Amino acid sequence: GVPPSSPLLAGLNPEQLAAVTLPNGHALILAGAGSGKTRVLTTRIAWLLQNGHATPGGILAVTFTNKAAKEMVARLTAMLPVNVRGMWIGTFHGLCNRLLRAHHKAAGLPQAFQILDTQDQLSAIKRLCKQFNVDEERFPPKQLAYFIAGCKEEGMRPGDVPAHDADGRKKIELYQLYEEQCQREGVVDFGELMLRSYELLRDNDPIREHYQRRFRHILVDEFQDTNRLQYLWLKQIAGDEVAGRLQSHASVMAVGDDDQSIYAFRGARVGNMADFVREFDVQHQIKLEQNYRSYSNILDSANHLIGHNSRRLGKNLRTTQGAGEPVRVYEASSDLAEAQWMVDEIKQLVRSDGFERKEIAVLYRSNAQSRVIESALFNASVPYRVYGGLRFFERAEIKHALAYLRLLENPNDDTSFLRVVNFPPRGIGARSIEVLQDAARAAGCSLHDAVSAVPGKAGTNFKAFVAMIDVLREQTEGQSLRGIIEQMLESSGLVEHFRTEKEGADRIENLQELVNAAESFVTQEGFGRDAVALPLDEHGQPLTQSVPTQSPVSQGLDPNAPVLDEPLKPTNPTTPAGIIDSDTGETLSPLVAFLTHAALEAGDNQAQAGQDAVQLMTVHASKGLEFDGVFIGGLEEGLFPHDNSSGDRDGLEEERRLMYVAITRARKRLYLSHSQTRMLHGQTRYNVKSRFFDELPEECLKWITPKQQGFGSYAPNSGAGGAYGSSARAQFGFKSETFASPPVPPQKAAPSHGLRAGIAVFHTKFGEGKVLAIEGTGDDARAQVNFPRHGTKWLALSVAKLTVVD
Ligand code: ATP
Ligand code: MG
Repeated sequence: GVPPSSPLLAGLNPEQLAAVTLPNGHALILAGAGSGKTRVLTTRIAWLLQNGHATPGGILAVTFTNKAAKEMVARLTAMLPVNVRGMWIGTFHGLCNRLLRAHHKAAGLPQAFQILDTQDQLSAIKRLCKQFNVDEERFPPKQLAYFIAGCKEEGMRPGDVPAHDADGRKKIELYQLYEEQCQREGVVDFGELMLRSYELLRDNDPIREHYQRRFRHILVDEFQDTNRLQYLWLKQIAGDEVAGRLQSHASVMAVGDDDQSIYAFRGARVGNMADFVREFDVQHQIKLEQNYRSYSNILDSANHLIGHNSRRLGKNLRTTQGAGEPVRVYEASSDLAEAQWMVDEIKQLVRSDGFERKEIAVLYRSNAQSRVIESALFNASVPYRVYGGLRFFERAEIKHALAYLRLLENPNDDTSFLRVVNFPPRGIGARSIEVLQDAARAAGCSLHDAVSAVPGKAGTNFKAFVAMIDVLREQTEGQSLRGIIEQMLESSGLVEHFRTEKEGADRIENLQELVNAAESFVTQEGFGRDAVALPLDEHGQPLTQSVPTQSPVSQGLDPNAPVLDEPLKPTNPTTPAGIIDSDTGETLSPLVAFLTHAALEAGDNQAQAGQDAVQLMTVHASKGLEFDGVFIGGLEEGLFPHDNSSGDRDGLEEERRLMYVAITRARKRLYLSHSQTRMLHGQTRYNVKSRFFDELPEECLKWITPKQQGFGSYAPNSGAGGAYGSSARAQFGFKSETFASPPVPPQKAAPSHGLRAGIAVFHTKFGEGKVLAIEGTGDDARAQVNFPRHGTKWLALSVAKLTVVD
């Protein structure tokens, strides 16, 4: 093989090295947990770039979470200096969003389309059901949402769905009406992001061919959890099928582990692996069998457990690390006692064993379990951070604030309109809203456009609301994101309203946190600053070795080099948030980019990211991550394995894979626990310990007997109920000092391209306009320009050819 000549490759084992340095061609890396799949993927990207086999623009990498994408970017920039902006690294949703923004017209969407999260989607469906007098007993909105998402995951539009009976036809009709409503309002749900961009590529030859030529290396992590549509999306971007054979210029590398497939309930198809091998005619298959993550007591437990599953592709995992500590198992009398045991052990790990808190994770099967654990951590003043659950961007007051911001960008967003038209209260009753909705329906327009049709006092109130939004839009034109949000908080009356409310102080603080989140978003995404951060070596010196960000051809260096990065006309360079309209050079305003971020990355609360806090999350959310110490609680029949799934064999095997994922997150210490009684959903349940305990090797476990009552710090019934209020606050960490977010210095943009606010410019499509603001430098420079006939737009200066008008 290839000698590990470069420091990039040092330390890789022979199989990893082979995978990293594979020649072109499609490849499948099938390997167990902790064997370095993600590391191989990241190192391969670095290797491709370093050796000139690819340019940043020629790489498409798909990760399972936004967090994983960020980590991959961080590791890459630590390996070599590279303009990560040019690379398409992200989740399927993030990448689809990027595609749709760049080609929104071809996709039939407004550029500033808004993304509905699951909550928004449900309220949109409820609104629809009401409007069409749908019997919600017969067609529960939640089920409709599930039905629609399922159809989209299979790539089916209403016309493609087979109807078996009257109910089926009704559901399809509602799906159709829902789509029309979304289209009218300029909003898309998560499933739509995927399906719409799939159709965009399918139906638009020049766009598809552009990306097929552009992406020479497509790398997919966690491939076992892709669904049908995602697989087809990948296949399409890899090449066209001619006479049953995939003609592809790209090399697709998929890495995965069939034992970690845990999203079947959301349409994931482990069968995509076999399809991939067959349909892509995969030339390279590599297995990695060395686990670098865990001590053998942990690894043996995982292997032993997963050995109870029947349908497996078959892999081995060994570790050269020692046995390590035994896996500790605790039987608690109650969920409170279990949580207290965890807290005591965590304190011990931090105090005596020198573990960092952020290297300790508490994992649970369902979100409802977290409250008790949070409460115990909170009472013990142990900083912690919760992923998932009610996320920052999903809190009511934040959703209200975001609704106002969305209306600034898109007055036709009826979901947002309804959310805030009477919040804070403006004396607009339900009856008046019905009148407005009827008027909008009759005129076939948005609520915003229908206000003048409403007579009397109600009409006056509606008009005042619309005028307030319109004035706010004018006032904030050309302002920074921070300025826009602060002005909105004032004008909308939100802050004023919460000042008079009982729990209002918390909410005002959260609204303030929204301003901070926007501020750090602007900084992180490079709005207003040079985005290419040069990494430092271990001595703090800038690394000098550099990677070309342009293709060798366009630099005129090597006439024989393959065209790696052929541009779509006009050139499609990188930009903050990476999103530019391919026709006009129009870019997203910072506000739209921020709203997109709020919808797509609701779970990653950047403000706390660097804190040394214990990590709480569901097992599902922990996939791909690793921690020095891991606690898995609630190992009880009915909970883990879960009631919903343990009935049939497929369900039970998925639960077992979930447990396998949980165990393999641990590097050094693993703690398992179950409790005899548990309060769940308002009921005390008496639980039997999980069957999974019987599937673990006894010699790796150490059973711990509960401490004597009164000996430890645990006191039964110690006001857990009362603690919930405070724990709910601590969940987001905005109250306690330990979580305080570091102040983010404001970034000043240097002037560029000879433009400045106030001067007149000419754009070939939009005509004459006036520059309102400039942000960023170099390739990232953008101008906000007001065009009398086209409104205010953000334009990427490297694409939009603006000429100064004297
Ligand atoms: P999962 O299936 O959980 O996603 P994975 O296969 O993606 O796991 P990685 O997360 O890439 O595994 O690697 C697990 C750990 O092992 C990481 O800390 C990684 O840095 C380390 N590791 C991987 N390969 C090596 C190696 N050759 N030498 C030392 N450490 C390694
Ligand atoms: Mg991984």
